[in-house]
Amino acid sequence: MTVTNMRQGTCPACGSQEVYCLKAIKRQFMVELGYWGAEDIPSKVLVCVECGRCERYLQLTDKHKKKIRDEAARVQG
Ligand SMILES: [Zn+2]
Repeated sequence: MTVTNMRQGTCPACGSQEVYCLKAIKRQFMVELGYWGAEDIPSKVLVCVECGRCERYLQLTDKHKKKIRDEAARVQG
């Protein structure tokens, strides 16, 4: 299995399986979404204690997803 993200339990950077999940504290990820102003979206952080790499995942509600799809620029590959 190719490791592409830390949710697979292995660090893609160093190969360590010492990946832990932290809950991000509030006010750490502010997203500006149109008339909502700045929205504080809860997120969780996966961290590798071997090399320090981390990945952050926003815990999006359907409302967040709709606003993002409607208002943000989509990244074209
Ligand atoms: Zn690592």
